[in-house]
This record gives sequence, structure tokens and C-alpha cells, in this order.
Amino acid sequence: MIPVRAYFRLFKSYLRPYKRRAWLLAAVLSTTIGLQLANPQLIRVFIDRTLAGDPTSRLVPLAIGFMVIAFSHQLLLVWATYLAEQIGWSATNQLRAELTDHVLHLDMGYHKGTSPGELIERIDGDVTALSNFFSSMIIKVLGNGVLLVGVLVLVWLESWIVGAAIAAFTALTFLGLFRLHGVTVPWQKAIRATSAEMYGFIGEQVDGTEDIEANGATGFMLSRFDGIQRKWLPQIVLGWTGWAMMWSASMALYFLSLMMGFILGSWLFGVGTLTIGSVYLVFRYIEMAHWPIDEIREQLVDLQKAGASIDRVGDLLARESKIADDGKVQLGEGPLRLTFDAVTFSYDDEAGDETVLHEVSFDVAPGRVVGLLGRTGSGKSTMARLVTRLYEPQGGAVLVGGHPTWDIGLQNLRARVAMVTQDVQLFRASVRDNLTFFDDSISDERLMDVIQRLELDEWLASLPRGLDTMLESGSGGLSAGQAQLLAFTRVFLRDPGVVVLDEASSRLDPATEGLIEKAVDHLLENRTAILIAHRLATVARADDIVILEDGRIIEQGERAALMADEDSVFAHLLVAGMEEALA
Ligand code: ATP
Ligand code: MG
Repeated sequence: MIPVRAYFRLFKSYLRPYKRRAWLLAAVLSTTIGLQLANPQLIRVFIDRTLAGDPTSRLVPLAIGFMVIAFSHQLLLVWATYLAEQIGWSATNQLRAELTDHVLHLDMGYHKGTSPGELIERIDGDVTALSNFFSSMIIKVLGNGVLLVGVLVLVWLESWIVGAAIAAFTALTFLGLFRLHGVTVPWQKAIRATSAEMYGFIGEQVDGTEDIEANGATGFMLSRFDGIQRKWLPQIVLGWTGWAMMWSASMALYFLSLMMGFILGSWLFGVGTLTIGSVYLVFRYIEMAHWPIDEIREQLVDLQKAGASIDRVGDLLARESKIADDGKVQLGEGPLRLTFDAVTFSYDDEAGDETVLHEVSFDVAPGRVVGLLGRTGSGKSTMARLVTRLYEPQGGAVLVGGHPTWDIGLQNLRARVAMVTQDVQLFRASVRDNLTFFDDSISDERLMDVIQRLELDEWLASLPRGLDTMLESGSGGLSAGQAQLLAFTRVFLRDPGVVVLDEASSRLDPATEGLIEKAVDHLLENRTAILIAHRLATVARADDIVILEDGRIIEQGERAALMADEDSVFAHLLVAGMEEALA
């Protein structure tokens, strides 16, 4: 059935800012309905006067009146449509913004589990369905409802017998159509769900074109595409069948009502209750009543779409981030202590057996630098994500400045703890916007100052248009090393107390490597740091070393001490050649 309460709630909260315009719309709409109802009355008088043999001079004003009313009616209709469309889009744009904001604050687990295409379909597709609901639905359902009532009242005034018959018939029509509507709702829902899946799939594929083509996975992807299409087709056929069922039912009922009008009209004319003009009027009103019924029926399809959309939008809004932002602690200036206290973590809450970190404990005093080593997949990047609280550990705690991360205000934590990830995400924007994250309050002077301090001015000079050079999204346009340089600058601008540097594992060209070395030196000044290192040169900066294997710490200690101890894992690593041993 139609979730009237949900619609009403939506209406109330999103139409409030547009109250005045909504009232104007209501006024314009009522006038159009009034005009529409008035015109047949003119024709009735025209017919009766003509039959009575009135002179043309008495008929012409009626004809002119009819034309003026018909013309104004059309004009007002255009205005009403414009208003409704405007209200609909303004209201739903607000909803779009709210949804986007909400989604951006959801936890990383949600984002990893939802494809970008699916999100687009949710935020844009569903909300567009709602905007149609707000605009055309107001006009068609509400406007036509009033028109229908008007017709019934006027017919009733003409002859209560016809009025009663039409009212009963209309009630039956609606009842039948709503029944049918209830049957077809699930069909529509299935179509929308598959459509979301489809767009999610396409979004993912477009994103991965390079890898798909390079790995020859095109055939496989096409077959998956095919699979979704195959599921979609019968659903769409069923959906349209539902539509056709509604349509034929409504047409059949229309003809029945016309027949009824004919029979009753001719009978009442025969017994002398109605004039021929009144018979025309009744007949015309019956015909007019069909359009509202038909429009409302057609809108039912949109209404079910909007219903499904409201459900999904509601679900999304109700989804709370697993990372609650209710910490009160504000971290101070300067380098901060960082502690892992028996941290146990797995990405999937349910599948407990895939534990990525097992009771990991270590402590970094303020200003010290820890080199974190370990084979690929041992859980290094995972630790970095826990420090910035992109995920919450299932056991133990990560403490920054002595406070568990969940006690610290999320925004404050992320301002004071910075992470440079292995593959830096670039945006399709200028170098400046990529550095400042589109924050206009950061001046070019400040930017240049940081770039100079990181000794990156030469690199900047090598870019064709300096700060205005446009970058491609993803990692296109820059090498992994260059992208990391850019990320360093981002971090430096925020001046955090803890830095987690997840080094790119790819090999760098000597020139970029030199730049990175210098930049890292500056980055670490007066900051606590975890260096997730793949290269010897980076490790050499660490005061302490932590070696991770399969999510467990197998060795930790001062770097100098470990180097001196021939039996240590670290010393063996150095002898075996770290780059090779950790690969
Ligand atoms: P590398 O040296 O290659 O960067 P790493 O030490 O950083 O490796 P992690 O990325 O922390 O390794 O991954 C540790 C484990 O967690 C791996 O087994 C990986 O498959 C798993 N993992 C990583 N990210 C996710 C994720 N988003 N969802 C589920 N499992 C993940
Ligand atoms: Mg990693």
C-alpha cells in the first residue's frame, strides 16, 4: 500500500522552507481547477439558449467567455507546473545534500562494502524519483483529487441520481485500482534493486577498465554484465505488464462510466428532469472525471517508485556510522604519544577467524619515530587505519596522547593525526586544490612556504603551470612517488602531532627518491611518527623498530640495539637485503 505517513513526514520536513511558494502553488492550482469546472457550465447555457432560439448577440459573449477561460486555464497550468517543479527540486536538493553529508560520515566498512555506482543510484536516482514525487505528484494527484471532488459535487447538484451513481462508480474504480497497485509494487521494487546493482557494476568496471583490459578479463566481465541483464529483463517485462494491467482496467472502467452517463442521461431527459444542455454537462463531467482517475492511476507508478525510494533513503539516513563521533577530548599541540594496547582487529565483525591483528602492543614516546616492518599482508596499513580511526579495534585500544581514540573528537583526532597512504588519491583538479582539499582559506603564500620547507619548489617548478597544473583523478598524471610528495604537503599544511607514513612499495626513480628523503626529514621534525617502510633509507630514520608477521609483533626494540644483536630478526633482514626479504 502507499506509505501515507512516510510521505507526509517527508512533505512536512522538506517543504517547510518553501511554505510561501507552496501556498502560491495551491492558489494557482485551485484557480485552474475552478476554471476547468466552469467551462462546461458555459456550454450548457450556450446549448440551452441556442435550442431556445436566442439571438446571436446573446450567444457571442458566452463563446468569448469560454475562450478566455480555456486560454487562462492553460496559462495558469504552465505557471503551476513551473512552481511545482521549482519546489520539488529545491526541496530534494536539500535532501541530496543531507544524504551526501550523511554518507560521507559513515564508517569505512560501509564504503568498502558499497560500490560507488550504488551510492550514486541511492543519492541521485532515488532522490530524483522523490523530486518527481514532490513536483508532478502534487499537481497531478492533489490537483486531480480536488478536480474529481468538484466534478462529483457539480454533477450531484445537477441530478442526485447521476451524482450518486458516479460517486459509487468512482469509489469502486479507485478501490480496484489500488488493489491492483498493491500487486504491482513488489515488481517495481525488484526493478529498482537490479538497476542499482547494474549501475554499481558498471561504475566499478569503468573505474577498473585499465586492469580489466590488461588482464584480459573483458570476457568474464561481459558475462557478469550479461548475468545482471538476464535478471533484469524479466523483471522489467513484469513491471510493464503491471502497468498495462492498470491501464486496461482504467480504460474499461472509463467506457463503463460513459455508458452509464448515456443511459442515465437519456432516461432523465426522456422523463423531463434534465434539459439537453444539462445532459451534455453531466456527460462532459463524467468524461472529465476520467482524466483525474487516469492521471492519479498513472502517478501511482511514480508513487510506488517514490515509496521504494523513501524506504531506501530512510534506511540510508537511519544507518549509523560504526565510528561514533562522541569523543570530548581535544588533543593539544606538539608531538603526541601513540600507544597500541593489546589491539585485536578483523575487518569483518562476523567472520571472527580472519583476524588481521592479534594483541598488538607497543608504545611510541612523543617525538620518536618507529619503523614498522613486515611482509605484505602482515597488517601494517591496517594499523595505520586504526590510528586515524577509520576502523575500530575489536579488542584493546589505540591511544593518542594517552586517550583512547574513541574518547577524542573525531575531527580533532584527524586534524592531529595525519596519514599518508600507499596509493595517494588525487582529484581531478589543480595542484593547489589537491593540496588544500579545496580549502580556499589557505593562501598561496602559506602553500609556497610549506613547499619551500619541504624543499619541493624545484618539483613544483617542473610542473608545466605550477600550482595551476591540472591533475587527473585516481593516480593518473603523477608517479606514485610524486603523489606521495603531494600528500606530504597536505600533511604539512595541517601540522599534525602524529604522522603515519605508509610508504609506496613500488620502486622510485632516484630523483624523486631524493626529494622524498628530504621531505620526510622535514615531515618528521618534532612529530611522533610511524614509518611503514619498504626501503632501507626510510628505516634508517627510525629510532625504534617493530616487526610484524601475520598480525603479530615478532620483534621490537631500539634500532641501534637490534642492529648490534646478530641474532635479531632485524639484523637478519638487513643482511638478507630488506627490500628482497620483505617483498
Ligand atoms: P602491504 O605491505 O602489501 O601494504 P600490509 O601489511 O599493509 O601489506 P594490510 O593492508 O594491513 O597489509 O592487510 C592485512 C590483511 O588485511 C590482509 O590479509 C588483507 O587481505 C586484509 N585486508 C586489508 N584491507 C582490507 C579490507 N578493507 N577489508 C578486508 N580485509 C582487508
Ligand atoms: Mg599496506
